[in-house]
Order: sequence, then C-alpha cells, then structure tokens
Amino acid sequence: MLIDSHCHLDRLKAAPDHASLQHLLSQAKSRGVDYFLCVNVRQKGFTSMQQKMAEFEQVFLSAGVHPLDVQEGLDTQELYQYIQDPKVIAIGETGLDYFYADETKALQQSCFEQQIALAVDVDKPLIVHTRDAREDTIALLKAGNADKVGGVLHCFTENWEMAKAAIDLGFYISVSGIVTFKNAGELRTVIRKVPKDRLLVETDAPYLAPVPHRGQENQPAYVRDVAEFVAELRGESLESLAQSTTDNFFNLFKDAAKLVGR
Ligand SMILES: [Zn+2]
Ligand SMILES: [Zn+2]
Repeated sequence: MLIDSHCHLDRLKAAPDHASLQHLLSQAKSRGVDYFLCVNVRQKGFTSMQQKMAEFEQVFLSAGVHPLDVQEGLDTQELYQYIQDPKVIAIGETGLDYFYADETKALQQSCFEQQIALAVDVDKPLIVHTRDAREDTIALLKAGNADKVGGVLHCFTENWEMAKAAIDLGFYISVSGIVTFKNAGELRTVIRKVPKDRLLVETDAPYLAPVPHRGQENQPAYVRDVAEFVAELRGESLESLAQSTTDNFFNLFKDAAKLVGR
C-alpha cells in the first residue's frame, strides 16, 4: 500500500466534480495508492475542500495557510473550528517561502508562529513548506516547541544539514516528483541518506508531475512513480519502501491511524 502524503485534490483540473474525482482516486487505488492527505493552502478554501472530500473516507485533510497565501490573512479562531472535523489530521501547509515571496517575510513568520502554536495546542503535527528559508524555518520550529507534535517538511528540496536538523526535531522528510528531475542530483544524494523510518512520499498534485509524466497535470496515482524511483535510488524494493512510508505516515498522523483503525 502507498499513501500520497501531500496532494491538493481540490485543485485538480482533471477532477472538477465528484464523479471525476472518484474516478481519479480509483485509478490511484488500482496502482496501489490507498490513502490521500488533501492539504489546505488558503483558509478561505477550506470549507469547499471539506465539502468536496466529505464522502471519500480514504481522504484525510489538513487546515492551514500556505506561506504564499498569507496576505489573505490567518484567523486562528476559525482554523480552530475547522480542526473539529475528525478528518483534519494536521495543521498546514504552513512555513516560509523566501524564494517566491521575500517581501512578505515578516508576515510569513508571524503566520508560521501562530500555526505552530495552534498545532502544539491541539496536538496535531505540522505540514511545513520551506524554500530558501532554512535557518528561519528551523529556528521558528524550535522556538515554538514544534518537537512536541512533530510534522513533515514536505516536497523537500533543501540540503542534508536542513534534513538532519528537522529529523533531530522529530520531523519527517517527504519526497515529491522533483527527485526524478534531471537536475536534482544533489537532492537525490540527500534522499538516499534519510533514515528509513523518517521518509514519506507525495505527489503535491496537481503540481510537479514526476518523470515520465512531465508536462502533464500531476495526479495522486503518480505517487507510485515517485515511490518506484526512490526505492531504486535507495536500493530497496518497492514493497519495502511502500511498507515503511505507510508505517511512517500512520506513526506521524496518529489521528489518521485512529480513523482507519490501525
Ligand atoms: Zn508546499
Ligand atoms: Zn502543497
């Protein structure tokens, strides 16, 4: 069994309605992908995402504000209400992205701090997006005692030092289709070194389709391509990688484990 630990199912052009989403998820299932974590990026988009996913028991949710959407605002009281839905197993995605939005640094930092505090308060792990903000990301996680709840650095593209610092804080490293890209040699070296009990796989669909689907809209079924690539890279069998990444998912997201009776 594989799990797509990070996707945006409400943003897929290929799945504008219930029937097409059902079709897409069953295609994924036929490639061995049983569960999906549908990640919230804009607070205003949460309710419609929640409605679209309500009937799909295999889809878990997160609630939070992405660092590139902080200008729309963060209302932690409202977020707290969203978290009451048992399908919500994590806070995020939150974090820092200085690569695309250096000018909103201060606002990103305060939104990140508030979401770390919320995660610790409600005892749910964090889904962290980080780009070109290594030191500040780790510093804020430490300052907010994020090690109490843990989480994941999703779509990881940073160096080993950053991975190690996150792992030391009890975090997991999630690898997306970027690892299959031609120019990702340095990332492949890092992913080879991540301890087996700290690795997750994701698509980040509809973005970043892995080889051999480059140029198409990404979809959760393609997490299998990511997993096959990573297994080969690490010298493991696909079965072994599927088993460990699934165990890791349920170890990190304890509310998901409860929902499915694991
Ligand atoms: Zn992200
Ligand atoms: Zn994402």
